[in-house]
Amino acid sequence: MAWKVMMPKKIMFGENAAKEFPYPKNSLVITTTTPDIYNKWLDYMGIKNYEVYDKVTPDPAIETVEAIKKQYEGKNIGAYIGLGGGSSMDVCKYLSKLTGIPKILIPTTFGTGAEMTTYAVISFDHKKKLLQDEAFLADAAIVDPYFLPGTPFNILRNSACDAAAQASEGYDSKAGNPFTQFFCKEAFDILYDAIMNDKHHLLPYGAMLSGIGFGNSSTTLGHALSYVFSNEGVPHGYALSSCTTVAHKFNKSIYYKRFKEIAQKLKFEPLKLKQPLDQAADVIMPDRGHLDNNPIPVSKQDIIQCLDEIVNSNPLA
Ligand SMILES: [Zn+2]
Repeated sequence: MAWKVMMPKKIMFGENAAKEFPYPKNSLVITTTTPDIYNKWLDYMGIKNYEVYDKVTPDPAIETVEAIKKQYEGKNIGAYIGLGGGSSMDVCKYLSKLTGIPKILIPTTFGTGAEMTTYAVISFDHKKKLLQDEAFLADAAIVDPYFLPGTPFNILRNSACDAAAQASEGYDSKAGNPFTQFFCKEAFDILYDAIMNDKHHLLPYGAMLSGIGFGNSSTTLGHALSYVFSNEGVPHGYALSSCTTVAHKFNKSIYYKRFKEIAQKLKFEPLKLKQPLDQAADVIMPDRGHLDNNPIPVSKQDIIQCLDEIVNSNPLA
């Protein structure tokens, strides 16, 4: 069966990658952080002749995208530069689709691999929507470990857990192919080593490979289960610690044991769910994008059983 993979036009990785990149004139830097932080970053990058939009908030809404588009209309912006976590990059992706202006994505928290993918999460009417479009693909992705040391441990461990979940679920995905499995396997091995042996400097590379791998296949049951916890305010990576562990066990994944070790090493607590399991299963079942790509079929009863294991027995014990 034929398959297709997509990657950013240009990928720059490693120490000084963000410093050596030739930024276009009159770029618009889009970030979620504050001037005391991003001014240091922009200094390091040596970027000149730019504007900054720093009013992006987590879980960006379509209104924010529209507001930026309007504010900079006719100002001859050379490129958007998404500098920060997933939210900054998602806004750049959607903006670039609307205006056709190229985008350069520079992650500063390493885990989602969003700089490599055709996915973006934007809120419409206060509801997060996962969108996919080839126009979301970066014209350049710059992964520079320079940004890593400032990352607080809690963000670091959530990101690391997400990257490991994406790599291992992506490996098992029915939408995968030999190319994506090659990237997912390599990504997981690097992430496992980085987390288990406290080699955190390896996380950016592992997360990047994970992005190429799962971004061209999909995540599966672990991610499907996790969103009912996210809806109750649990951070994405934390929700995956138990959800992906239980999903891997259900799927008899080759990654079950090692993923669980990662979740244990990162000291994640067990999860709780406010809504009844049956009701949560009804929310999860329509998520065909994840469930149809799961390596084995999943019934509503299976989902209830997985949720029961997540909240009533500690799957990380
Ligand atoms: Zn994820």
